[in-house]
Amino acid sequence: MTLQKILWHPDPHLKKKCSEIGLVDDVTRALADDLLATMYNAPGVGLAAPQIGEVKRMFVMDCTAKEEDPFARVLINPEIVWSSKETSVYNEGCLSLPEQYADITRPAEVRVQYLNRDGKEVEEHFDGLWATCAQHEIDHLNGKLFIDHLSSLKRTMFTRKMMKMKKERTRDE
Ligand SMILES: [Zn+2]
Repeated sequence: MTLQKILWHPDPHLKKKCSEIGLVDDVTRALADDLLATMYNAPGVGLAAPQIGEVKRMFVMDCTAKEEDPFARVLINPEIVWSSKETSVYNEGCLSLPEQYADITRPAEVRVQYLNRDGKEVEEHFDGLWATCAQHEIDHLNGKLFIDHLSSLKRTMFTRKMMKMKKERTRDE
C-alpha cells in the first residue's frame, strides 16, 4: 500500500477518457489499495484512478469517512444503469481542486453496475452523498471535473486559481 501523489487540475491525465480494466487481478487490487490509502490520508470521500495518474476505469469511495470502514467501496468499470428524475444540489469539492467548491445539480439517486475488488459483478443503488460522489467519480473516468458542469466563466476562474496553487506547490517541493 503506497500513498500516491494526487494530481491537481489542470493536468492532462484528468482530461482523458479512461480505459476499461480487462481483468481484476492483484495489480488491480494493489491499485485499489493505493487509492483507498491515498483517499483516507487526504482525507476525502472519493478518489478516481486518473487522479493518481492511472488512466483506468476505477474509483474508490467511502462517504462515512471513517478509516478501515467496511463501507469502503471499490468500483471497477462502473456504469450508471439508472438515474432518478429527481435532482439534488450539493456543494462539491475535489481532491484535484483543493479548497474549491461549487453547487452542482445531479440526479438524486443512481443505480450503478460495477465489478468489485473480487471481480464480482455488483449492482448497487446509491442516494444522498453516495449518489453525488459516485457520479462525480464516474465523471473523472470520462475526463470530466465538477467545474465542467459550470459556465465557462466560472470554470476559467477556478482554473486560474488552481494554476496559481500549482505553481506554489511546485515551488514548495
Ligand atoms: Zn474529484
